[in-house]
Amino acid sequence: MFMFPVDLTFCGDLPGFLRRPLRGASPVRRALGEKTAVKDVIEACGIPHGEVDLIVAIDATGTAVRTLDLAFPVESPLALAVYPVPAPPALLPGAPRLQTRGCDRFVADGHLGALARHLRLLGLDTAYERDADDPRLLDIMTAENRVLLTRDRRLLMHAVVQDGYCPRSDDPEQQTREVLRRYSLLESAPPLSPGSRCLHCNGRLGEVPKHEVAAALTDEPRTLRYYNEFFRCSTCGRIYWRGSHAAKLSARLARINPL
Ligand SMILES: [Zn+2]
Repeated sequence: MFMFPVDLTFCGDLPGFLRRPLRGASPVRRALGEKTAVKDVIEACGIPHGEVDLIVAIDATGTAVRTLDLAFPVESPLALAVYPVPAPPALLPGAPRLQTRGCDRFVADGHLGALARHLRLLGLDTAYERDADDPRLLDIMTAENRVLLTRDRRLLMHAVVQDGYCPRSDDPEQQTREVLRRYSLLESAPPLSPGSRCLHCNGRLGEVPKHEVAAALTDEPRTLRYYNEFFRCSTCGRIYWRGSHAAKLSARLARINPL
């Protein structure tokens, strides 16, 4: 069979995704025997397509020649540079990037419960079901037009995934910062609205007059005595108030979102 080489230089933190046998190689050389979409060439190396922002064909001197979209059919020898999000703005500035920026709706997989709560704390619409299996996650993602957050790279490589992100860190606060950066949410408009969402079910919170919640808080006499601002989740009815944990929440917010 006629084989031809494809050399891939993975930039930024993309080499961290490389399958074990390929680690340390730069460029990574693949031998293809037939026409293959560049998405499949890249994913065969271990890198999910949602992590790729720019694919550039380079010539023998390393100069960028043209950009490729994910469906580009590779059928002859080729050298590519592959960039994560965000691709360097100065590199072929007119070329469209492959990933969208300003997404603000997410679905987190069952292992990312703490990340989901942090995103909700910031007011970001984040679906989360602890026991959701892969088909369920993909259903929610598609039906509700959400970005998939998961550390399962195989799942991120699924063809139906348009927008997906693999948190690098194990630490939920760091993961939250990663998501804010990846989706440009710190410079977004409208800005984040901390405290606007239920941490338990993702419903929206609305302010309610104290007399409306008094009956539900009869076993919280101190709360009723000391607090006057109350919020209710429009979905599950849970009641929130600016209680003793408010300082802890603000501290956490300040750590996650230093702006
Ligand atoms: Zn709720």
